[in-house]
Amino acid sequence: MTSILPGKIALEEHFAIDETLMDSAGFVPDDHWPELRSRLLDIQDKRLRLMDRHGVERMILSLNAPAVQAIPDPRRADEVARRANDTLAAEIAKRPERFSGFAALPMQDPDRAIRELERCVRELGFKGALVNGFSQIGSADSAVYYDLAQYWPFWRAVERLDVPFYLHPRNPLPAHAQIYDGHPWLLGPTWAFGQETAVHALRLMGSGLFDACPRLTIILGHMGEGLPYSLWRIDNRNAWVKAPPRHKAKRPIADYFRANFFLTTSGNFRTQTLIDAMLEIGADRLLFSTDWPFENIDHAADWFDAASISERDRLKIGRLNALRLFKLAGGTD
Ligand code: MN
Repeated sequence: MTSILPGKIALEEHFAIDETLMDSAGFVPDDHWPELRSRLLDIQDKRLRLMDRHGVERMILSLNAPAVQAIPDPRRADEVARRANDTLAAEIAKRPERFSGFAALPMQDPDRAIRELERCVRELGFKGALVNGFSQIGSADSAVYYDLAQYWPFWRAVERLDVPFYLHPRNPLPAHAQIYDGHPWLLGPTWAFGQETAVHALRLMGSGLFDACPRLTIILGHMGEGLPYSLWRIDNRNAWVKAPPRHKAKRPIADYFRANFFLTTSGNFRTQTLIDAMLEIGADRLLFSTDWPFENIDHAADWFDAASISERDRLKIGRLNALRLFKLAGGTD
């Protein structure tokens, strides 16, 4: 019997509203859907009981995926984002000592995304944004990534507001997923989520975005979507070839990864992987998370509470880093 680390803070924790609920339906077998559905629609009941039982003091909640990012009409995307954010704010208000929020954003229109993020941070007290990968804009088969020039004013606004941006996975569109043809088992959390999100993060780093916005903070889930394991190779392939890197960024990719990124343990409850992430990015940039309701809170907490790391690192990753990053009360612990 291992002891529970009390006061954990978890930040990749999802809910759904009616308009986005069915986006999550395909991710579990039909006979598990009633359970997942009820988990997604619940904030104050079973979720809170599990938090109490497993030492999770606070969850920073976010909308399910792909949700707003999969609504090609920018006005409709804005409408659904606002509704989700208002619903979340009302739930947080019932238990502000247990719940905080990440904004859903209509990235289809960078100006609307800036306005909604400002509203969520300044008026609703949200702690940042969580966005589900690329956005479909105008037509269902478009996929727009946020390293593009039209998003740089948005990134400047995120930096100005001094809140983190959580880049959360979604599946590639069928038209862009030929590599998975005949192997649907590779979609979702098995592989495609990580691949999709890792490449998006690399696009941000290679674009020079963090030269322009050096204080911008991006959070990746799932222990970094595979990036810690590949970090050395990204900057050192063909090292005998003395040529400058072909990306626009001024420094090696690993520099940005270590200066501008935080990683969470969401959905990746493996000590070997955690230790690799700690060696690459440091225990100060890792954060406990579960990925409820797609993963179990007990699976996350039972693993983390007993993982073979120092108690000092467990406290940092489980609580202190999040208090500092999100400027939560108790941040001087
Ligand atoms: Mn998730």
